[in-house]
Amino acid sequence: MATGSSNGQQSDMSARFFQKLASGVPGVLFTYWLSADKESHRYPFVSDQVQTLFGLDPAALNENADAVFSLIHPDDADVIIESIAESALKLTPWRYRGRLRLRNGEYEWFEVQSEPERQSDGSTIWYGQFHNIQHYKNLEQSLRESEAEFSFQAGFQRLIARLSTEFINLGFGTIDQCIDELLRSIGVFFKVDRAYLYSFSDDYAVMTNTHEWCKDGVPTLIDTQEQVSIEDFHWWQEQIEGMVSGSRVVFIEDVDRLPHEAAAERALLQAQGVHSMFSVPIRVRGRVTGFFGVDSLQRRTWRMDQADLLIIVSGLLSGVLERHRLEEELLNQSIRDPLTGLHNRRYLMPRLYEMLGLSNRRGERFALAIFDIDHFKKINDSIGHLGGDYVLQRFADILVSQTRSMDVVARFGGEEFIVVFSAVEHDDVRQLVQRVLQAVHEESFVFDDEEILVTVSAGVAGIDEFVDRPATPDALIEGADCRLYLAKQAGRDCFVDVSGTSRI
Ligand code: GH3
Ligand code: MG
Ligand code: MG
Repeated sequence: MATGSSNGQQSDMSARFFQKLASGVPGVLFTYWLSADKESHRYPFVSDQVQTLFGLDPAALNENADAVFSLIHPDDADVIIESIAESALKLTPWRYRGRLRLRNGEYEWFEVQSEPERQSDGSTIWYGQFHNIQHYKNLEQSLRESEAEFSFQAGFQRLIARLSTEFINLGFGTIDQCIDELLRSIGVFFKVDRAYLYSFSDDYAVMTNTHEWCKDGVPTLIDTQEQVSIEDFHWWQEQIEGMVSGSRVVFIEDVDRLPHEAAAERALLQAQGVHSMFSVPIRVRGRVTGFFGVDSLQRRTWRMDQADLLIIVSGLLSGVLERHRLEEELLNQSIRDPLTGLHNRRYLMPRLYEMLGLSNRRGERFALAIFDIDHFKKINDSIGHLGGDYVLQRFADILVSQTRSMDVVARFGGEEFIVVFSAVEHDDVRQLVQRVLQAVHEESFVFDDEEILVTVSAGVAGIDEFVDRPATPDALIEGADCRLYLAKQAGRDCFVDVSGTSRI
């Protein structure tokens, strides 16, 4: 049987054959023809997938390729057209990655690979395919994001580790320098405009900005934020309540959108140029004593876990403040007498050395007085040891109230107290000691409804008496003690200094 088919039939058959073959292959197979003058182009062959992918009719593309080129993302178009021109010129493979608009209007990434072949008329035909590589792009993007996230997390951990070590070693010096450095580091890390620390008064009615870091060019607020009464800021009071009782973080994403009842707060924050802010409570020994905060002057996106990260920072600050308070208490305990709250001998002696040094260098005068309660044993015997303690405390209060802040007041032993009067003339000392004895006279000591008669004797020695021998703390104390003994001998309730015995 004759099977002679025409050429037309043969080419129809091969076209169908190729369409079938092409439809089984992922991606789009094509031949792309570009005229020698580059004025016209078409796809002599293109897989049917262009229909499903882009909504384009393959038959129309056989005539004109414009429709495909109109799908190229505007940012990719120039480079793609250039790369075709180059491939046509050098007959090098044409490879390119670019975004094409899908039927649903969205752009996705495609990769083109094809080989050019010059035709006898100077035109060029490329044989090749292109396929969707969006999932690679997505993967690339999520890898980039997780890498950025990883390096952010690692950076944050490094920062916290560095700050904690430096806090432990007090690497920056004082506690204030430590806090300033923490605020600076955190401010820079989170790219905020301000980072600060506030402390509350015990009743939470007043707050004070104690430390602040500002980005270059951002105005500082700390000077205007001392002892700020929050009486008129009701919304803020509620937020503080949330921080104190619920450990809540206050987050204001957009100051302009604060609720109606926060009008006063909004006006204040707007005046400070703040756009958004976080405030995180600081807890010292279980009690909220203040808060740590950051401001952004511009609209910005915050991380989802921003509050959690700031809580870690506030935990670090809490730890530092807690340790600092503990250290201050320990120091206080070691240099103070627990019964009277006065300084003790451990504090007094080095201060005396210090004052002697100053006196030697600058000739500053000072005098030392020892006060001793008269017949204290009898007081103890009559009203008991607790009554005796009461008298000691009352007398300590008198000493504090009758002396100046620059004087050193210490409990030296059982019922003996030392006062170092600094920068005074001889007559002033006499007056000051006299004032103490007078105040004891005027004070009524009542314990268990019983009035106790209390008098005090004192011995005074001045630094200016040491002209022929070196002044030492021990020599000064010994001098004053000898005169105290003389005062006791003279009948008590008096004091003895270089000019003899004086009574009031
Ligand atoms: P004088 O007038 O000579 O100073 O006689 P005095 O009894 O005051 O002197 P003395 O030094 O003989 O006695 C001091 C007493 O102070 C003895 C001691 O039991 C008592 N004392 C020391 N420390 C304390 C204390 O912390 N509390 C009480 N209640 N008594 C104390
Ligand atoms: Mg005594
Ligand atoms: Mg005594």
